[in-house]
Amino acid sequence: MSHILIIEDEQKIAQWVAAYLERAGYTAVICRDGAAGLAQLRHQPPDLLILDLNLPSMDGLAICQAVRAEKRPRLANLPIIMLTARVEEADKLAGLGQGADDYVTKPFSPKELVARVQAMLRRQERLTSPSPILEDEGLVVNPAAHQATLHGRPLDLTPSEFAVLVTLMHNSGRALSRSQLIEQALGHDYEGQERSIDVHIRQLRRKLETNPNQPERLQTVFGIGYRWRES
Ligand code: CA
Repeated sequence: MSHILIIEDEQKIAQWVAAYLERAGYTAVICRDGAAGLAQLRHQPPDLLILDLNLPSMDGLAICQAVRAEKRPRLANLPIIMLTARVEEADKLAGLGQGADDYVTKPFSPKELVARVQAMLRRQERLTSPSPILEDEGLVVNPAAHQATLHGRPLDLTPSEFAVLVTLMHNSGRALSRSQLIEQALGHDYEGQERSIDVHIRQLRRKLETNPNQPERLQTVFGIGYRWRES
């Protein structure tokens, strides 16, 4: 049974989310304060974190950064779904850059949130199940160990960036549309997420390419999407 931590200061929302998750077969714990939530997840690492953006004492982005900086892989790779208000588009994208894997805008339907949780947990399972090592000129990616190195140096990738990279490399030489990437890498198929893929691609190029403005490994296929060069 997967265990989910909810860090959300609005009591009604937190309880409502917890009730739906429990009905879907998960265990859920609620924290209403940012710093206390971070302490709780360090003490008892959950399988997934639902994180509100605006919180007392420590906000969602700071918590995200702290989790990604953890040495324990279980925490550093923890799937995070961030809750944001509709007006906070810029914050959403910043959240992706800070290592959130997905976001849900308020108001949201519990059904939608549960579907995202299920998709995220499925994706995590896929990422940690055995699969072959992927290589491309000095880049070595081990999907099972959730590790990537470039010329022997470990790469610092968020879980979403890692998933996008593995999906592209698995399909090397093949153009994938943004929606195919979202579906295969991020595990969901809803519309309107194209910009989040572009953010991940930009980050990957910055981390992997010699010249991110003239990418050689991760190519743009005009009018379609992206392709990893033929290996
Ligand atoms: Ca809040």
